[in-house]
Amino acid sequence: MTSTNSVPSAKFEVAIIGGGPAGLAAAIELGKLDFIDWRLYEKKPAISEIGNGITLQRNTWRMLEFMGAAQHISSDDYFKQNDVARYYPQHRNGRTGELINERQPRSDTPLNRHSCRTHRAKLQQALLKEVDQSRIRVGIKLTEISRFGSGDRLRLHFDGGFTDEVDMLVGADGIRSTVRQFVFPEHCMSFTGFTFYRTVVRMEDVRNKSDIPLAGQFWHGTDAKWIFTTPLDENDLEITARVKDQSGGDERASWGRNTSVEAFTQLYADFKPPLQQLLKLVTYAQKFDVFAGSRLETAIDGSKSIALVGDASHPLSGAFGAGAGFALEDAYVLADGLRWAHTEGRPFADELELFDRVRSPHYKALYETIDDNALVEEELKARGLQGDDEIRHRVKNVWNVEKTWMFYHEADRAMRDAIDELRGK
Ligand SMILES: Cc1cc2nc3c(=O)[nH]c(=O)nc-3n(C[C@H](O)[C@H](O)[C@H](O)COP(=O)(O)OP(=O)(O)OC[C@H]3O[C@@H](n4cnc5c(N)ncnc54)[C@H](O)[C@@H]3O)c2cc1C
Repeated sequence: MTSTNSVPSAKFEVAIIGGGPAGLAAAIELGKLDFIDWRLYEKKPAISEIGNGITLQRNTWRMLEFMGAAQHISSDDYFKQNDVARYYPQHRNGRTGELINERQPRSDTPLNRHSCRTHRAKLQQALLKEVDQSRIRVGIKLTEISRFGSGDRLRLHFDGGFTDEVDMLVGADGIRSTVRQFVFPEHCMSFTGFTFYRTVVRMEDVRNKSDIPLAGQFWHGTDAKWIFTTPLDENDLEITARVKDQSGGDERASWGRNTSVEAFTQLYADFKPPLQQLLKLVTYAQKFDVFAGSRLETAIDGSKSIALVGDASHPLSGAFGAGAGFALEDAYVLADGLRWAHTEGRPFADELELFDRVRSPHYKALYETIDDNALVEEELKARGLQGDDEIRHRVKNVWNVEKTWMFYHEADRAMRDAIDELRGK
């Protein structure tokens, strides 16, 4: 490809980079605005997901409903226990089986917004159904961004020589964002010291050969390691495990690499029998090194023509198991602000400021929650807690209900409040 998409449009031109939850949600929401001419670029050959399962939290459902995508996820798409599709994991000591914490939903949670666990592909497909797919271009990777003219237009350079010119850029290109790198060249990601292992086993085998509870369960061990087991639907049970990996070496990678099943299961040899029965059913495992970056003070560029959404704006690396929900919230707020700016006859730069005013404090609060968890680790060390005492203390203080506030956040209300404030109400 050597062509350029450079014919200026009478409409405000926006490019979205990335076809994950953030990019698709941005496409849905921008598609509702008739003064926007948008297109989406995805580097993979098709819109597809990474990983197996995903939790749809209450805040995620709220956004999926606003976006019209909730209707494409049916109750058969997630696992139900005794016909109830609620996913509120129990937290146990993996070495003894002791139940330490059991999360319950807030009592005002509407029936259709209960947390549930499903395949990532179901979420991705549900979003995709609401997108005008003729505006998506796959197999095309953004490599560079430059400014031209008086500096208010952006030129995007892609692999293969293709370029595009737009008024605004939405960086929805995930945790290793090229757009973020352009806006904040100093920002860097680093290995957190944790590694995830992920696999899926057949529910039929699980039912026949293990006594593992068929519900979301976190099994905790010492040194902040855990295994999370959850049915995804009637066919598959997902296993995600986290462990500190101090083995050294620079060959760290955030994408999944096949690894030895034995090397993985050995890490949990001290866990109790139901887990051992389950681990015997594992036939493959993938390993992901966890990378994260420090908080960005702002999710927009200095010229106010680039917005970062989803993991690009908050490199938290899976923290809270709600990143897809945050991505949808970003997209919703971004588009709602554009609508507001258009209606009020304001420059779109004002909108980006508003987007940032609404979203950046939210991310600040998320990072503060992570800092709180780091204090728990310090306290554990200071008190010399070990073994089952260590596990109990960590679970009670890190995995407690106060740390679930983000699942109840209502981004649309936060946006309304910010607009009212601007109008001086
Ligand atoms: C282990 C783990 C468990 C998690 N569990 C949950 C959960 O239960 N619930 C939940 O809500 N969230 C969960 N998350 C977080 C969630 O996966 C992410 O927050 C979410 O996928 C972010 O969406 P995104 O669209 O911002 O980024 P991504 O999903 O990473 O999508 C980015 C897209 O951009 C494309 N791209 C990247 N660079 C370029 C480029 N240069 N040019 C063109 N395209 C590009 C990529 O190919 C990709 O398709 C978890 C994360 C991890 C790591």
